[in-house]
Order: sequence, then structure tokens, then C-alpha cells
Amino acid sequence: MTADNHIHTSFSPDGKGNPEDFVLRAIELKLEHVAFTEHADLLYFDPSFQTGDLTAYFAHMRMLKEKYAGRISIAAGLEIGYTNANKTLNAELIKKHRPDYVINSVHEADGSDPYYPQYFVGKTPYEAVSVYLKAVLDSLDAPYEYNAVGHLGYVTRKAPFNDSVYSLRPDLVDEILGKTVAKGKILEINTSGYKSGEVLPPREIILRYAALGGKKLCFASDAHTAQDLCRNYEAARSLAAEAGILCQTAVIGGKESELPF
Ligand SMILES: [Zn+2]
Ligand SMILES: [Zn+2]
Repeated sequence: MTADNHIHTSFSPDGKGNPEDFVLRAIELKLEHVAFTEHADLLYFDPSFQTGDLTAYFAHMRMLKEKYAGRISIAAGLEIGYTNANKTLNAELIKKHRPDYVINSVHEADGSDPYYPQYFVGKTPYEAVSVYLKAVLDSLDAPYEYNAVGHLGYVTRKAPFNDSVYSLRPDLVDEILGKTVAKGKILEINTSGYKSGEVLPPREIILRYAALGGKKLCFASDAHTAQDLCRNYEAARSLAAEAGILCQTAVIGGKESELPF
């Protein structure tokens, strides 16, 4: 009995599928807990990627929690894309909706998203990675409560170079990991890019996190369809085991719980 702590449904601009289908798939997979984490990327530079109707989302989640009570634990969460410009708005959003779980992610740095080629134009690999990591470091001091650090190393997912984040800026990665440990935040292992051979954070960063005293990892498929729930779970589990961490940390009923990895 385990958990998937990062999924997107049609309440996210890029998600597909009815939330109930995810719940049914999670029950089929015998999960103990599933965390819905719809996108909230306020003031995102690309207006076509709009945050969904979060009032409708949280109301829908309340209905599903009641309907499936006793069968599976459901968290109604958000994946909040942090920028220096939107942090105050994010704090207001959290105050308004009181999500059960918050992933603190960085999708935008220096006015663009490293998912797209234009982010890398005019930047050396060192600069591209540094800009992203500095934004992540900033995000750790977000003026609101969050539970987990999302897909650390995201900048390399579509990067036009092969250098690893850690090889380029071990200093900044260590600073981020040290702060994550000091603040007691969960570091997610995001397996959504695994088809391209990459888990985020990459292996060397997960091992470094454990070496710096980090003990809280969680599994995150980042599924955008119900069929992708728990995809590449084994990859995350074996990396966690290599780091000496045999349980994952999930937030259930507002409290951190240890579940089998
Ligand atoms: Zn994300
Ligand atoms: Zn996501």
C-alpha cells in the first residue's frame, strides 16, 4: 500500500481525465493515498496556460473524498509554480482554498520556462542552470506553507546540453538541499520524464540529499492521465533504497505519514 503524490486531471490546463477515473485507478493499484496536485501558475508568461477553476476543483474534491471515504485517502492539493512576482498571490490562493498538500515547483525563471527552447537562447549551460537553481533557492523561502519540493532539476528536462545540474552548480544544489533538510520539506522523486531516461531529481542529487541528512522522499508520477498513475514507481523506489530511505513521506489528513516506498 503506497501513494502517488503528484497528479493532474482536467482541472489543470494540460491534464486529461475525470478525477474520479484517477481515484478508481488508484484503488485498482491498491494505493493507500493519492494526492491531486493541479497546476497553479499565477502570472505565468504564456497566457494560453491558464490556471483552472480552483473553486470548482476543491468543491469536486470534497465530493470525491466523501464518496470514497474508507476506501482510499485523497488529498486535494496544488502544484504551485513559484516566481518572485507571484509569491504574494500564491499566499492569498492558499489562504483562500486551504489545500491539503502543496508542491512548491519552479516552472519559470528569468521570464521563461526551461521546458521551451527559448529559455536557453543566449545562455551557456552554466547560466541556464544557475538562473533556474537560484529561482528554486528563492522558492524555498516562499511566504506560504508548502510540503514538498517539486521536480528539482527540471531545467535539464529539455535542455540542449548533457551536463548535469549537479556537475555545473554543486554549490547551489547543496545550498538547496541543505535548506530543504533544515526546513523539513519533502523532496519528491518525479518519474514523469523517465521515458527519456531521467528521474527528477537525478540520482546524484537524491544521494546527495541523503548524505546531507535528508530523510523525506516521496513518489510523484506527475501523471496527466489516469493510466499514468504510479508509472515508473520501481525506478523511484530503487533510487530511494540506494539512498537508504525505505519509507516515503505522504501528507495524510494534514500530517506527515510514512508509507512503504
Ligand atoms: Zn511541474
Ligand atoms: Zn506536475
